[in-house]
Amino acid sequence: NGLSFFSSGTSGTLAEQRSALARQLTMEAELQRALVNHEFFLAYQPVFGRDAEHMVAVEALIRWRRPGGDVVPPDLFIPVAEQSGLIVQIGRWVVKQACHDLAQLHRAGFTDLQVNVNMAAPEFVNPNLPGELMAVLQACGVAPRHLCLELTEGLVMKQPDKVIPVMVALRQLGCKVSLDDFGMGHSSLSRMKMLPISSLKIDRSFVSGLPDDRGDAAIVRTILDLGRHMKLQVIAEGVETDAQLLFLRQFGCTLIQGFLLGRPKTVPELMAAHPQTTRD
Ligand code: C2E
Ligand code: MG
Ligand code: MG
Ligand code: MG
Repeated sequence: NGLSFFSSGTSGTLAEQRSALARQLTMEAELQRALVNHEFFLAYQPVFGRDAEHMVAVEALIRWRRPGGDVVPPDLFIPVAEQSGLIVQIGRWVVKQACHDLAQLHRAGFTDLQVNVNMAAPEFVNPNLPGELMAVLQACGVAPRHLCLELTEGLVMKQPDKVIPVMVALRQLGCKVSLDDFGMGHSSLSRMKMLPISSLKIDRSFVSGLPDDRGDAAIVRTILDLGRHMKLQVIAEGVETDAQLLFLRQFGCTLIQGFLLGRPKTVPELMAAHPQTTRD
């Protein structure tokens, strides 16, 4: 896999390419150390149902707190973890931590809360994944229906032969599967029809143009219609304004995630922000 570092990001001079490679290798070593030293943590962003009080799910979002104290967002290290294969070990930690935290939230009174976990290609093409997930769920006492795996549409369309059987197995076990960043990944509708998914997540780039951008408005309405006809739930991500929320509700989107209603939070912050009295 090491050779792919040379071919990725081919623009720039040889010296630039070399320093990019050196940075990548340094980060790989740092990520390896981060796993051992427990430098990763999860932030949970709420997903709301029909009203802003009813939190139906949380999305687990990984962060890396480096020894100096600065927190690195996933877009800056997940690609390196993917290329080096470290994502598989990181992903195992994410699933364990997320299920452990969910069990704690359930005990604290968030009884029917679901956790959404992001998965990258190398994690998901592992045929042992369903068995590994079941072992974690059992160890934590979490029901499979409370775990939803988010896959990007691009991943599913690129490696359907490897991905779809794993999706089928997970659905049979009772887990949910969601297509993340929907609309960005050149989906083939004929293939989509065959995917055993439970929900679609409208990519933030379409939500951001609502309600004024006519193209975005048309795309979002089309995805909502598609979801309705295919009996899939549709989640809007990246909702930042009241006008966006209003538009989404008007066109039947009931699952909302975004900074307007809640930023990613640690478990204690989540509990403090949503005291028991506002739950069902
Ligand atoms: P994603 O799965 O599409 O997650 C949504 C991202 O949008 C998150 O960024 C979230 O903080 C951000 N977001 C949510 N609402 C808003 C909003 O209203 N405005 C804006 N500007 N942003 C919003 P984050 O946490 O930086 O994660 C970025 C990506 O990193 C994720 O995109 C996901 O693809 C990946 N990722 C995060 N955690 C994991 C993980 O545990 N494993 C893997 N494989 N990938 C992960
Ligand atoms: Mg996601
Ligand atoms: Mg997304
Ligand atoms: Mg994304």
